[in-house]
Amino acid sequence: MSNSTIIDGKAFAEALRERIATATAALKDAHGLVPGLAVVLVGEDPASQVYVRNKGKAAEAAGITARDHRLDAATTQEKLLALVDRLNKDPSVHGILVQLPVPDQIDPNAVIDGIAPAKDVDGFHVINTGRLATGQMDGPDAAMVPCTPLGCRMMLEDRLGDLSGLNAVVLGRSNIVGKPMAALLTQANCTVTIAHSRTKDLPDVCRRADILVAAVGRPQMVQGDWIKPGATVIDVGINRVAAPTEDEPDKMRLVGDVDFDAAVKIAGAITPVPGGVGPMTIACLLANTVTAACRQNGIEPPKL
Ligand code: NDP
Repeated sequence: MSNSTIIDGKAFAEALRERIATATAALKDAHGLVPGLAVVLVGEDPASQVYVRNKGKAAEAAGITARDHRLDAATTQEKLLALVDRLNKDPSVHGILVQLPVPDQIDPNAVIDGIAPAKDVDGFHVINTGRLATGQMDGPDAAMVPCTPLGCRMMLEDRLGDLSGLNAVVLGRSNIVGKPMAALLTQANCTVTIAHSRTKDLPDVCRRADILVAAVGRPQMVQGDWIKPGATVIDVGINRVAAPTEDEPDKMRLVGDVDFDAAVKIAGAITPVPGGVGPMTIACLLANTVTAACRQNGIEPPKL
């Protein structure tokens, strides 16, 4: 029997995308500005191709011009950096995303460093990381915030309102999820603990959390009895596990980092996988593109 509210990330993302579409229509009317997003894909990775296609479709539906740049798997770092440089200089491109992972001959950090910070809609450039860490969140030189933690914060604030004083545990300390998530929650006045693979007594640490964000990449690792009754649980994990049936012995399914069936009985609210954090990540990429386009044109970004 479920006691939790299930946070519908898909519906939340749809509503956000509608607000973005309204904002882009207003920008076009008032300023003749159409936000532009360039998505660069190197190689043929099937999962990345699906992501890139989905990002393109979602952008166009929200009034953002999306341009794909597909380079073959043998592309050199130099050639990729030359493309990034061209996009940096193109005034019709406001956001640049290089789909990761890139093939082995390319250093992902060199690529991220090559993107102009103002156009870094993934928020991975060290300038943006530094601005986020130092709380530079307003004005033309404000941080671009990584999309996944940005979406998580939006859903948390929608559910809980003011987060001040709440105990937040972020499970995972990656540069793309855990660390920026912890920075955003610190800014929101939570008391933040970052847990990772060397954390002692992890279940106990998690049990203290009013807000638990799981971003570890370990299928269903977080057990029901790790969760404080009534806590808000955000499951960032996307893990593909075997789910064979008689007809489809190779069938796979997606699960999060949280044992959802157990957690849903204890948490106050929880995001499902799929349909939780994932859809918000793409919607936040679009929001970041609109924000970037406004900042690059001296326009106050809309509140999305
Ligand atoms: P990383 O592999 O970069 O980081 C994983 C983190 O989890 C590390 O800090 C690691 O600790 C910690 N960790 C791993 N195993 C354990 C363990 N047994 N106990 C405690 N901590 C552990 O992953 P990402 O942050 O990139 O991604 C995390 C998950 O989120 C993945 O499933 C990924 O697919 C998903 N994801 C989902 C997105 C979405 O849009 N929904 C977007 C991005 C990611 P340590 O640092 O000590 O090694």
